[in-house]
Amino acid sequence: MVLQFVGADHEVTGSCHYLQVGNKSILIDCGMRQGGMKFENVPMPVPASKIDFVIVTHAHIDHTGMLPKLYKDGFRGQVAATEATASLCDIMLHDSAHIQTMETEWRNKKEKRIGNEEPYEAIYTMEDAMNLIRLIAPYEYGKIYTLCEGVRFRFTDIGHLLGSASVELWLTEGRTEKKIVFSGDIGNKDQPLLKDPAFTDTADYVVMESTYGDRLHEGDWAPPVEELADILRDTFSRGGNVVIPSFAVGRTQVMLYYLRHIKQNNMLPEYKNFPVYVDSPLAVEATEIFVENEKECYDEEALDLIRKGINPITFPGLRLTISTEESKAILEDDDPKVIISASGMCDAGRIKHHLKHNLWRPDSTILFVGYQSAGSPGRRILDGAEEIKIFGEPVAVKAKIESLKTLSGHADKNGLLEWLEGFIRSYGGAVIAVP
Ligand SMILES: [Zn+2]
Repeated sequence: MVLQFVGADHEVTGSCHYLQVGNKSILIDCGMRQGGMKFENVPMPVPASKIDFVIVTHAHIDHTGMLPKLYKDGFRGQVAATEATASLCDIMLHDSAHIQTMETEWRNKKEKRIGNEEPYEAIYTMEDAMNLIRLIAPYEYGKIYTLCEGVRFRFTDIGHLLGSASVELWLTEGRTEKKIVFSGDIGNKDQPLLKDPAFTDTADYVVMESTYGDRLHEGDWAPPVEELADILRDTFSRGGNVVIPSFAVGRTQVMLYYLRHIKQNNMLPEYKNFPVYVDSPLAVEATEIFVENEKECYDEEALDLIRKGINPITFPGLRLTISTEESKAILEDDDPKVIISASGMCDAGRIKHHLKHNLWRPDSTILFVGYQSAGSPGRRILDGAEEIKIFGEPVAVKAKIESLKTLSGHADKNGLLEWLEGFIRSYGGAVIAVP
């Protein structure tokens, strides 16, 4: 048996681990590296055509984004994922291929203008993504499956994203059996919609994430519905829009959960029919996948709402826009409204149009609900920029800028230790954190 760390072992993106059992080669995740990178991933120990299986822990691009590249390089094996992850990979890898193609076209145009005729090739194309998606096989949580001779596995809900899982692997070579557990990304407790991370009790080896291994999330956290209602009331009273840049998968659905709560509990009686637009094709598709997987993936609180006949992420006044015409129509409508759009850091997608039409308006509010990386337009707006360039044109920042403290998708140091204690408890021990 061989375990080799290919990516994400001294940074937090581009997750990829290689396992060799007998004559089978298996990858755990095949992620794309995102943001500024200091380290080189090591090359894959075998050619892509020699990989037999990829087991995917969840659909985030830093865990799945290089799968179509693996296909392009010759991989024709099977990708094993939970049912919700399989559905989310379908839309997210389409989206990723679209981004790769657009970025390459843009870069080639730019190169041509400076006299460089040598075209860059996209990392992968839509065709590569679509061919790869055909290789994804969905598996249920909680069942032990045989992947191939000598390898059995089980997915357990880890509460990080819809469909996210830790993976237990039982590996046999000759008379030796070893159990190795990959944590995937470990979620937070008490998030809307998702279950708390489930523990695993036994392992010979554990490979776990540690994104927040050196940090604690700030103090007590409560759902920010009062704060959100205040921001809506304040903006609507000025006659403006609340524009929410949001990641399409995960954070958008959490915002819908809070907005449904506000409407259902009549927290804004003076504006109770306020419209909410989700203007992102990816977010709309992701919301449908959330609904399709509610029974397997939602927590008790969300299931309780469903038992009462309430869909936790839909409500009167919710409008899901897909076509460009529908998106343009939002810009022409003068009524105060909430607009949720991607990308979450304002660097791409339809959010740029909504910022162009609202950033300069003192009556509107731009509400940030997620992480804004250094250098992103979102970060510059949050840091108080007076002007932002959108589509090459300067736009004055006159709108009110707010941010809402939402729960991170990652467990903090205590959450990671708690998950680890799940193993220790079954051996009668305890985890001691060394500072
Ligand atoms: Zn993740």
